[in-house]
Amino acid sequence: MKATNKLKHDVIISGAGPVGLFLACELALAKCTVLILEKAEKATSPLKQLPFGIRGLSAPTIEALYRRGLFEELEIHKRLKNPHITATPQQGAQRQVGHFGGIPLLAGNIDASQWEYRLPGSPETSLISEIAELETILTRRATALGVEIRRGCPVTGVHQTGESVTVWSANEHFESKWLVGCDGSRSAVRKMGGFEFAGTEPEFTGYTTLVNIADPEKLRPGRNVTSAGMYMQSQPGYVLMQDFDRGAFHNSEEPITREHIQEVLRRISGTDVTINALHTATTWTDRARQATQYGNGRILLAGDAAHIHSPLGGQGLNLGLGDAMNLGWKLAALVRNHASKDLLDTYHAERHPVGAQVLDWSRAQVAIMRPDPHARALHAIFRDLLNTRDGATYTAGRIWGIYNRYELDGGHPLTGRNVPNFELENGAKMGELMRDGEMILLDFEGNASIAALVNKYATQIKYISCNATDRLGLSAVLIRPDGIIAWVSDGGTDNTAHLAQILRQYWNVVPH
Ligand SMILES: Cc1cc2nc3c(=O)[nH]c(=O)nc-3n(C[C@H](O)[C@H](O)[C@H](O)COP(=O)(O)OP(=O)(O)OC[C@H]3O[C@@H](n4cnc5c(N)ncnc54)[C@H](O)[C@@H]3O)c2cc1C
Repeated sequence: MKATNKLKHDVIISGAGPVGLFLACELALAKCTVLILEKAEKATSPLKQLPFGIRGLSAPTIEALYRRGLFEELEIHKRLKNPHITATPQQGAQRQVGHFGGIPLLAGNIDASQWEYRLPGSPETSLISEIAELETILTRRATALGVEIRRGCPVTGVHQTGESVTVWSANEHFESKWLVGCDGSRSAVRKMGGFEFAGTEPEFTGYTTLVNIADPEKLRPGRNVTSAGMYMQSQPGYVLMQDFDRGAFHNSEEPITREHIQEVLRRISGTDVTINALHTATTWTDRARQATQYGNGRILLAGDAAHIHSPLGGQGLNLGLGDAMNLGWKLAALVRNHASKDLLDTYHAERHPVGAQVLDWSRAQVAIMRPDPHARALHAIFRDLLNTRDGATYTAGRIWGIYNRYELDGGHPLTGRNVPNFELENGAKMGELMRDGEMILLDFEGNASIAALVNKYATQIKYISCNATDRLGLSAVLIRPDGIIAWVSDGGTDNTAHLAQILRQYWNVVPH
């Protein structure tokens, strides 16, 4: 079918989870027309409601939301800004802010001053939020930006040609230039789009349950790694467990009964605890798989559709939102003929290694939680390391994405990293200048040759000339729409020619 210019939508996204919604917002911000097809009839699923829907947000996610003016809409932000409300129930050095393989990470052990390039006034490095709230905020934003969301429309078939993609939902079909599968861990787009999904099989079945316990005092508080698995009761009746059955129960798709949950909890906790009612329960595993390519022709994957792993340490949502941030501006640039396919290819090149690291990080946690003597010995060593300042700081930095860096050409330690939240002398903060999703050249010294070069890309780049209160020794910075630093000048050797080369790589336009 030759109808590229007549296609109603530039991009169809399968799945209105957080990743699909965030990607839709990024594309619509860059003036693409977007249709989301979502399987579920209703926006809210019980498994995304409290207490099941609690998610840890890490630095790159918080910064991404902040840069698009969405962070302020989260309830947790309002609580942080209100001095009369406590944001988290536990305070102080003993506050648990995360874990590695069940070993608590304590706030007092983390030395944030070791994290370079974080300027005062940067948003938080980690927060607890609710997935349902995030989806509500993103749905509102996407709708306001003109994204069409069709619920009760599962993607059931896909076919691509060199010019377009046809997407079926039952008897209806839709056409677009591109299709992105953001339809979660069992992604239909991944299966129908010819993607290879490689990785490792599970060690355990994980349970998240809401139950009534007749004798809760029989359970120990906190996260308990035992010789049979792991259990934790974080709120009354909200019980999490890991049963090292190689994922057998999860794969069996047997119904989750009260009797079964009680049997697993008794075995793991080594008690005769009694569960007298089961309200809600879900299972999951540590199966860790990743698409070997994030793109196949005109079909792309992002979020859980591209990678699955255990939720230990809570990184899946953050990883998926990072995909969406990275993909959005690149796909939009290609749709609008501002960039070549080479730019889109950098989506896989940049995001696949980040995903692979998260998968390995989750496998390492499972390895030290296994109920065997070797794993118990390793677990004890890791506990000692995480109780040191350096160990806790490194682990928190890894989990919260503080050290994330893409391998970009340039050599400066800031190239490929998230831009620090520079405060300009006119009072503006870097993050607040990024709401419209444009590439920015921030020129602290008003260099005429940089200004002249960037002026040739006036449609693609916003040029801002202003000094900053702390500019980290730099004289100019090129910031991509996803907040990644693509080029810096430290005022030494003139590297404007390198800037010109980078701009030619990014933008497939003849500068005017
Ligand atoms: C117990 C648990 C705790 C977790 N804790 C954390 C945490 O603390 N931090 C963190 O970062 N991550 C955490 N995660 C992971 C996180 O929830 C996921 O990585 C995240 O929800 C993925 O978002 P997504 O948009 O890619 O997929 P999903 O949220 O799964 O959304 C996919 C959407 O696609 C729709 N869909 C499915 N099939 C189709 C189809 N054929 N057609 C159209 N639509 C379809 C679905 O209905 C759904 O709305 C946790 C996960 C679990 C299970």
